[in-house]
Amino acid sequence: MLEHEIYALKYAGPFTSSGAFLMWLKDWEKVERRNYYIWCLKGAGETIIVDAGVSPDLAKERNLAGYMSPAEVLSRIDVKADEVRRVILTHIHWDHSSGVSLFPKATFYIQEQEYHFWLKDPIATRPPFMSMSDEAAKAYLASLEGTDRLALLKGDQEILPGIECLLAPGHSVALQAVAVNTAKGTAILGSDCAHIFRNYHEDWPSAIIVDLVGWMKTYEKLRARASSIDLLFPGHDPIMSENYPELAEGVTRLV
Ligand SMILES: [Zn+2]
Repeated sequence: MLEHEIYALKYAGPFTSSGAFLMWLKDWEKVERRNYYIWCLKGAGETIIVDAGVSPDLAKERNLAGYMSPAEVLSRIDVKADEVRRVILTHIHWDHSSGVSLFPKATFYIQEQEYHFWLKDPIATRPPFMSMSDEAAKAYLASLEGTDRLALLKGDQEILPGIECLLAPGHSVALQAVAVNTAKGTAILGSDCAHIFRNYHEDWPSAIIVDLVGWMKTYEKLRARASSIDLLFPGHDPIMSENYPELAEGVTRLV
């Protein structure tokens, strides 16, 4: 099966918060850091991007510390965002989907249930949910509905040899993780199924939850699929930038 390398690209951060944000209702008194990332899968064929990061407009509006356009970070490893053909969106929270317009030729792969929640369900317009998504990104995705640039997936689905999207709810209604065949076995980009590695190692979720039972089942599923727990990657852990070989500023090779 086709093998891929996995790169983590930091596009903003570090941000600090109470540890209770990263370890659900624990570590209130600790101050913990987190970064914002997109990921890149490179194999023999095309380059696939996982998540779109934040658009320059929203970064300005939210005054994001340490922000660099995801397109700019990709250019450091010779990937041109405006030529990318496939982007997997793990979920529609703003820090993972706001940058969709940076990829004008891409097909976006999203779980249908996730898309329908954010675009069609009135609950998604209530304040706590509204603040978690980006209106411009949702409008951009809505404009692609019915075209071949929007692929709505129903559950687990292999989209290319060695790359499978896995339905992984809990943090969001229908987040998807990405299982990737690598030289070390199956690695999983879990995105915000866990914010940091400790969530998986200590079997303890982070703090943004729509379904805690679903979240625990997702942990079981992802740990069973990854060839080792060290190949199960979280969404925001600064360790992804610190403990892996650096290829360019803000870019590390995870596998
Ligand atoms: Zn996130």
